[in-house]
Amino acid sequence: MTSKHGVCDWCKRSGLLTKHEYFDGKAYYACHSCDEHARMDIRQYNLEEMAYRQKLAQVTPPSAS
Ligand SMILES: [Zn+2]
Repeated sequence: MTSKHGVCDWCKRSGLLTKHEYFDGKAYYACHSCDEHARMDIRQYNLEEMAYRQKLAQVTPPSAS
């Protein structure tokens, strides 16, 4: 886990941050007090994103070749 000093993406306060990566590769940084909240946010986002992509894959018709 990567830690760095900067501004938290959740509460906008500066401090020591933990890096969180989203399913699509975007990275956000959360301070210690936002860490748990950030984890839940990202888990929820990733679940929705995966469900959405699965749905897309099912809807896409097979290529007529
Ligand atoms: Zn924070």
